[in-house]
Amino acid sequence: MRASVVVVGGGLAGLTAACRLRARGCEVTVLEAAQGPGGRAAGGEHEGYRWDGGGHAASARDAGLVALIAEAGLSGELLPLRPERLLQVSGSQAVPIDPARTLGIARSPGVRWRDALRLRRLPRLLRKFETLLDPADPLRATRLDDRSVADFVRLYFGASALEHWAAPLLIGDALADPIETSRLLFILHHLSRNEAPVGLLRGSFRELANRLTRPSDRFGARVRTLEAAGQGFRVAFEHEGSEQTMEPDGVVLATPAETVIPLAGPLLVDAERRIFEASRSLPALVLVAGLEGSFAEKASRYRFRPEERRPVVSMAVEPGGAWSTAAPEGCERAVLMASAEWSAAHFDAPDDVVAKTLAGSLGRVLPGAPAAMCFSRVLRHRRAFPRFDVGRYRELSRLRDVSADRLAHGRRLVFAGDYRIAPTIEGAVVSGGQAADELAAAFGLSR
Ligand SMILES: Cc1cc2nc3c(=O)[nH]c(=O)nc-3n(C[C@H](O)[C@H](O)[C@H](O)COP(=O)(O)OP(=O)(O)OC[C@H]3O[C@@H](n4cnc5c(N)ncnc54)[C@H](O)[C@@H]3O)c2cc1C
Repeated sequence: MRASVVVVGGGLAGLTAACRLRARGCEVTVLEAAQGPGGRAAGGEHEGYRWDGGGHAASARDAGLVALIAEAGLSGELLPLRPERLLQVSGSQAVPIDPARTLGIARSPGVRWRDALRLRRLPRLLRKFETLLDPADPLRATRLDDRSVADFVRLYFGASALEHWAAPLLIGDALADPIETSRLLFILHHLSRNEAPVGLLRGSFRELANRLTRPSDRFGARVRTLEAAGQGFRVAFEHEGSEQTMEPDGVVLATPAETVIPLAGPLLVDAERRIFEASRSLPALVLVAGLEGSFAEKASRYRFRPEERRPVVSMAVEPGGAWSTAAPEGCERAVLMASAEWSAAHFDAPDDVVAKTLAGSLGRVLPGAPAAMCFSRVLRHRRAFPRFDVGRYRELSRLRDVSADRLAHGRRLVFAGDYRIAPTIEGAVVSGGQAADELAAAFGLSR
């Protein structure tokens, strides 16, 4: 008999796990609370403008994502990535930088020449620890000493490298505070972008998510509880106004870490509960704006330096055209993300207040653009990015060991989500693949 599996959560982690388990012959149902798949990466559209959950960029080195796109049969439609240039905002100027090369980093505006010379240590450091540094397996890096990004970068490369390279990168990409964040995340993130073009899918993440769903998947299905039943589980969920249950042999819990205890608390052992209790995410308010006219001209990502980041920390602008579904021909779409602090303080502020404040930053970099705004949407992500503070990867390593032990003792429950790897699509995809491997092995299924 085929093993039955419920995947709770239809973000990219859950969809990857579902796809891999189906490929091994499992009967899989995805239960997703939202009305469609894709989770945080799912976007929207309005009169020819399209967006992903937050101006999502990927890297050609995101091997998990590239493989998933191929499995979904979408390589021709979504790849290769369209290049996106990176600019750092300094005063009212936006200066192009090349973050993939040490020389490019050294030339970032504001990095002092002495610190630029010290940046030559970076490739040596990466080579020295090469065997421990694998973005798809961050737990290997826990053998290295952990400390904050701020301590690490200041010590190795100097204060100006922290202020003008590391901080804008971490904050702009994942809202992560360099004083709290683990240097392991930073090093692995740098490695996954190193020497590789960063860019945008030719289509959208929503197309990928749609292609990975099956008619048996249920949307608008909010799981309430998960409990043990015989050899498997009883999953209680609400769907179309009625309470329903399913009794699968195994479960992939692919929801944000903070939801694990409310959903599956009684199934967890103390060590797991402690790790999930310590999980934290950062909120983000995002403004999507349609622009009538041409302002950036090329797909561009602007990073704002920390002292200039109130409230916007990053902005992605994309023109429409033959290769882009972002906007109609001759128009552009901008996506602006506010800092975690500002987002937390204004999370429930009315849309027009948020839109007006964030649109102010648009005008600083692209004068005239606010007047050309033809529509805007405010996106609210209460859990936008999981935090990877100092020591977090050690806790995740412990979670992996404890969960593997439970699996070996017959609890066929596995966890997936970006919070296990890195706050990126690639992190979500890799975690989904690993969760599928773990569960398949427990069912005795081969790859
Ligand atoms: C503004 C923003 C910008 C970003 N930019 C980038 C970028 O440029 N590049 C990049 O690589 N990454 C980016 N990311 C990160 C990326 O979007 C995430 O890392 C990734 O989408 C996480 O996928 P996931 O499957 O782990 O989680 P999610 O996408 O959060 O999926 C979890 C799913 O579980 C569902 N769920 C929760 N509770 C229940 C329940 N009780 N019952 C049923 N379903 C439930 C949720 O509805 C959700 O769909 C960005 C994120 C945000 C918010």
